[in-house]
Amino acid sequence: MNAAKDAIDKYGAGLSSVRFICGTQHIHKELEEKLKEFHVREDAILYPSCFDANAGLFETILNENDAVFSDELNHASIIDGIRLCKARKFRYKHKDMKDLEEKLKSVQDARLKLIATDGVFSMDGNVAPLDKICDLAKTYKAVTFVDDCHATGFFGKTGRGTEEFYGMIGSVDIINSTLGKAVGGASGGYTVGPREVVSLLRQRGRPYLFSNSLPPPVVGAGLKALDIIMKDTSLIERVRTNTKRFRESMIQAGFKIAGEDHPICPVMLGDAKLANIFADEMLGRGIYVIGFSYPVVPKNQARIRVQISAAHTNEEIDRAVAAFVEIGKKLSVIS
Ligand SMILES: *Cc1c(COP(=O)(O)O)cnc(C)c1O
Repeated sequence: MNAAKDAIDKYGAGLSSVRFICGTQHIHKELEEKLKEFHVREDAILYPSCFDANAGLFETILNENDAVFSDELNHASIIDGIRLCKARKFRYKHKDMKDLEEKLKSVQDARLKLIATDGVFSMDGNVAPLDKICDLAKTYKAVTFVDDCHATGFFGKTGRGTEEFYGMIGSVDIINSTLGKAVGGASGGYTVGPREVVSLLRQRGRPYLFSNSLPPPVVGAGLKALDIIMKDTSLIERVRTNTKRFRESMIQAGFKIAGEDHPICPVMLGDAKLANIFADEMLGRGIYVIGFSYPVVPKNQARIRVQISAAHTNEEIDRAVAAFVEIGKKLSVIS
């Protein structure tokens, strides 16, 4: 917060311009440098949001001679980004490597094949099989793209995201991610990857060229958040122990939690009405959780998606679990 305030004092609330006109201060360059260092990549480019990074990528690097392969549960912004490009489009079944392989095999004549996936899927908190995706990419000469919004800054040992979770930092060709979740939490997105790709995006990425530059306080906070993460992993460890505490207590109480040891903890309830009533009761006890139902998630898979943070104390986690147990009994979700 102080870094954001300092940046306002020094550079103003905003720059009234897109990046290439007069919307670039040296802190924007500094943040791009830091992101490139954090992800161990050749270059980085900032966008107003990750939605924009996804909207700008595919159209810029793919044309009608190319083919793109996308997980069916990819984030809406990847879907929209792909819609904007002229490449042939293939949607493979969620995390289904057999289906992906068949589709890769079926395309022999593409100039470029691109596999696109979320690193961690936001509704379920489950992780893409990145090791296998990269193997398939090698076999079928495809390029890989990961949207790591739900991993950057806290997932993997030092918060480098899904690649680090699999012990394969540097394996993915292009990563898009956000500053709007773990890294400051305000807004802002970016692409990291090969120098040539980033330079093409600076020339032709429409959301980069035609939307305002990130405001200085957001840049200041992003820089500071990365500094903190890169110096010290205690917050990352804290999220992990908080997640473990919540997941284990909830499972022990009889709840079904989807996902894989990720701080997105979807408490699966099934019925949409039940999920909404349950979430309202939780809100009534001062716990800010929201029920998710169709069309955000598939029919009959309604849930309360709990997000665990490093800022939570043990007492707060326990209080949330106690509220879940109390309401769960009252609504006959658990016995
Ligand atoms: C949140 C999210 C986005 C959008 O990020 P913004 O920076 O808020 O636009 C994109 N992709 C995924 C997977 C997300 O979870």
